[in-house]
Amino acid sequence: MSSPTLDRVLDAVLRVDANFDIHFVSEPGQRWLSRFIGNALPKNFIQLLHPDDVGALRQSLQASPDSFHCDVRLIHEDTECWVNLRSYPLAAVRQFVFCIFDISKWKTDTTALRHAAEHDALTGLPNRTLLQKTVEQWIADGNEPFCVALLDLDGFKKVNDSYGHTMGDAVLIETSRRLTKLIGPGDLMARLGGDEFVLLFADKHAMAAKSALKNILLAVARPYDTAPHNAYLGVSIGVAEYPIHGEDYSLLLKNADTAMYYSKNAGKNRVTVFTLTEENVDFSIKAAIHNGIQDGEFFMEYQPQYDMHRKLVGAEALMRWTNRTLGRVGPNQFIPIVEDAGLMPFLGKWALRYSCHQLKKFHALEPDFVLSVNVSPVQFGGDHFDEEVLEVIRETGIEPSKLILEITESTLMNSQEKTERALARLRESGIRFSIDDFGTGFSSLSYLTRLPVSSIKIDKAFVTAMGEELSGITPDKKLVTAMIDLAHSIELKVVAEGVETEAQFDFLKAAGCNLIQGYLLGRPMSADGIVRQFEAAAALAA
Ligand code: C2E
Ligand code: CA
Ligand code: CA
Repeated sequence: MSSPTLDRVLDAVLRVDANFDIHFVSEPGQRWLSRFIGNALPKNFIQLLHPDDVGALRQSLQASPDSFHCDVRLIHEDTECWVNLRSYPLAAVRQFVFCIFDISKWKTDTTALRHAAEHDALTGLPNRTLLQKTVEQWIADGNEPFCVALLDLDGFKKVNDSYGHTMGDAVLIETSRRLTKLIGPGDLMARLGGDEFVLLFADKHAMAAKSALKNILLAVARPYDTAPHNAYLGVSIGVAEYPIHGEDYSLLLKNADTAMYYSKNAGKNRVTVFTLTEENVDFSIKAAIHNGIQDGEFFMEYQPQYDMHRKLVGAEALMRWTNRTLGRVGPNQFIPIVEDAGLMPFLGKWALRYSCHQLKKFHALEPDFVLSVNVSPVQFGGDHFDEEVLEVIRETGIEPSKLILEITESTLMNSQEKTERALARLRESGIRFSIDDFGTGFSSLSYLTRLPVSSIKIDKAFVTAMGEELSGITPDKKLVTAMIDLAHSIELKVVAEGVETEAQFDFLKAAGCNLIQGYLLGRPMSADGIVRQFEAAAALAA
């Protein structure tokens, strides 16, 4: 079998039987193997193989017994050698000829090349390329949650500028050494360039990552004896969690970067978890809202409403969302996104049912209590809104006249026949409507008279604008007085919202306002809070 021509290209030729017992090794093959394993040639080929590659060989043989080839490692003690193995059957004797090419040089070259392409030359840490590859792999594998922490050294520029790049490099190497000591087995520490590092935390929520990062803060805070005068550094860190803070690599990195800047601005050397602020709302929040609805993160609070004798007569139900990672997110932030994501009909219906069930409980203590529930224009646009509301009324058995739906001017402005029919049908059943944020839209008398509205809510902006001065009639006070008079002239009640001071209260009372809502008399509170107010009022009356 060992023809001279073959021997020149092949490193070894072996003949093995079906059990891989070796029956023959070519002479050049013996020489080649002896450099590698000495003279003690094993009886069985498997003994030459890296244990991890035995399966690959057996599989290849099984898949195509006629002839196959595969890359496997030969191993002897600590030395291993990559070979390309080509097998041809000798059917007559039920044996196989294995032709072996040493490919270790080529293999290590490509491994070295790949390593260089994916690692940072200075610190040896994975670089941006490998980081991205890893994140994308984790996403593809469905490993969630995981966190991306972006670390930016504080004070590094000073070291670099004052002591030169060599010192700077030494500090970076020392930093990477300190950081890699602290990471878990499944985690990844990469260097993005400059003094920026990224730590990927496998299987962690942002809060868990945040507490793990405390050790990193401490590690970097230790003096650097690599730099003169025991330089002190710090590190500003931003954390973003997959998938709630970003559904792909670039968004996660961007949001971790945003959070890192918050750390810098807040005084450096700290960890900030990405949160939603108005400037950095992004669409991954939709996923969080979706999960939040399923996980019961939404709930309602109730802001009390009082008559002008300060008697508690009702409340407005306000939606709340406390997300595990984002913390408390205000309705002004999440409702537009919920609407945009097409989730408002669902969430709105939930809020209405939840509130009406609560109203039923309030009625056991205070039968006249009136609850206002906000309705988004998007909900009115739905086909079965009126039916849905009536169903909730039936389900809870509340008296319809104790429910007020707060709608905005825009609901009415853009109203189509469908909306008007729904309004009329609900009004017939005894439910009342109130115009929210009155005065901020394009109020038109015509819809106030035409549609079944029972009250208006003067927007907080007008109440605030009236100022503190009780005496003296300012244009804003004139405006509020005019709104109240107008409403009364067409038999609408008036609620003033955002009342924060006694002066505002006194003015509104004098102007004939019917109900008051605001921090002066009561902030939004839990249902239990409302019940305590009932109890306090009862105690006072007794
Ligand atoms: P809104 O309907 O105008 O609700 C009144 C807002 O003013 C509430 O803010 C309330 O907490 C706040 N507020 C009340 N009194 C005072 C005060 O004296 N001073 C100050 N500074 N603020 C006061 P919140 O809870 O953040 O709600 C914001 C908006 O979110 C609501 O404005 C409403 O448009 C919307 N919203 C809340 N819950 C729901 C809901 O269940 N469904 C719908 N569709 N929208 C909701
Ligand atoms: Ca409202
Ligand atoms: Ca309002």
